[in-house]
Amino acid sequence: MTKQKFGVIGLAVMGENLALNVERNGFPVAVYNRTAEKTDAFMTNRAGGKQVKATYSLEEFVESLERPRRILIMVKAGKPVDAVIDQLKPLLDPGDMIIDGGNSLYEDTDRRVAYLESTGLRYIGMGVSGGEEGALNGPSLMPGGTKEAYDEIEAIVTKIAAQVDDGPCVTYIGPKGAGHYVKMVHNGIEYGDMQLIAEAYDLLKNALGLDHNQLHEVFAEWNTTDELNSYLIEITADIFKQIDPETNKALVELIVDAAGQKGTGRWTVVSSLELGVAIPTIGAAVNARIMSSYKEERVAASKELTGPTAKFDGDVKAFISKIRDALYCSKICSYAQGMALLSMASQEFGYNLDLGEIARIWKGGCIIRAGFLNKIKKAFSDNPSLPNLLLAPEFKQTILDRQEAWREVLILANTLGIPVPAFSASLDYFDSYRRASLPQNLTQAQRDYFGAHTYQRIDKEGSFHTEWGK
Ligand code: NAP
Repeated sequence: MTKQKFGVIGLAVMGENLALNVERNGFPVAVYNRTAEKTDAFMTNRAGGKQVKATYSLEEFVESLERPRRILIMVKAGKPVDAVIDQLKPLLDPGDMIIDGGNSLYEDTDRRVAYLESTGLRYIGMGVSGGEEGALNGPSLMPGGTKEAYDEIEAIVTKIAAQVDDGPCVTYIGPKGAGHYVKMVHNGIEYGDMQLIAEAYDLLKNALGLDHNQLHEVFAEWNTTDELNSYLIEITADIFKQIDPETNKALVELIVDAAGQKGTGRWTVVSSLELGVAIPTIGAAVNARIMSSYKEERVAASKELTGPTAKFDGDVKAFISKIRDALYCSKICSYAQGMALLSMASQEFGYNLDLGEIARIWKGGCIIRAGFLNKIKKAFSDNPSLPNLLLAPEFKQTILDRQEAWREVLILANTLGIPVPAFSASLDYFDSYRRASLPQNLTQAQRDYFGAHTYQRIDKEGSFHTEWGK
């Protein structure tokens, strides 16, 4: 009997769609799901007539695959991945490969790669972005593990990935958990983008008084610009058009303002703190979701804690373009932080990341896909050891040209009492990065005062301690 070329374990939305994507690209697939009813439903509703073989035990699944076997696991991240690996391992032969396509923590992937490769199996930790639509029609894929293991799946992943002008949205990311690390930072950047867009919406609506039709027009127009054209701006424009049939109101205004999160944004911030890389915009985005979740407390506080009563009385049209400038400058700072984190992780963990190539594979398929990633790719191609994106000639000039508008937007937000944590964190990042002197000389004096931590001087070499106040 002919064997299947690829296996997928886990038939929730992502596993189903990736299985169909692989099959559509010419690789017959075997599928398995812990709960058999889901396998049946998939075969009946979506996989009928296709080169998909349903299996109902892991033994049958493994037996149905051509060797060396290539098995994609798309189950819940965490313990379920280890559970599936433990069940699969005794059934596999040397050279067989497991690919974890879930949102696993990179440290778990580091551990799994080391363990499975030491037993003669192959293991790839592959970040998958693009949600269910991407999984079906072309995601951005971030595979990490040994290069030899990647070479064996290259023919498949380059076909199923999104295709952009300069190739498929997949590349070998690096060893160990590099793929999942890069996917984690991608998600952190996604948090930043979404928060910055939310703040622009808040200002357009609550400072300038735009209604949902005008909001749609502004975002649709921004989506035509070279700098902001992106999937997230496009869906934002669409969202403002959606009318709730029951109330005839814009649906977005009926949605509770408390955002959920699954953990990859938090992991990004934790890793940045561990590596000593400042990512304040992404941190502000995670905190903004946390603040939003205090819904009841905020409603109660809103009756007690008043803010300013000032109103905007300027030129609305001119100010919309200032908000666009502020959004773009803030976005550049957010990506500068994400790329700086990747650069440090690359050094610390030996990932050997190619930042220009990573920007390229994010151009299609994934949630942060945007024309602007071309500029980031170019910045790192022109100068692979660029210390910070803010110093790339194009980004530098953009911010220098627009910083006045950016600052005006923050002044207005502060005057009206509209919170803009990610816009502010971005401007503070820019202002901190561009200053040769920061006030941490005082911090060092305090540390030496209370803890004899010593300090360095600007006028001579060495470490110094002072008996302060004596
Ligand atoms: P999910 O809801 O995260 O996971 C459900 C799947 O996991 C089901 O097939 C379930 O099997 C299986 N599962 C759970 N515990 C198991 C265990 N102990 N043993 C065996 N199987 C187990 O599914 P998803 O949304 O498709 O996501 C899959 C992975 O991709 C996750 O890591 C997710 O974070 C990541 N991801 C998701 C998206 C997205 O947009 N949804 C995007 C990118 C990445 P049963 O049917 O038997 O319960």
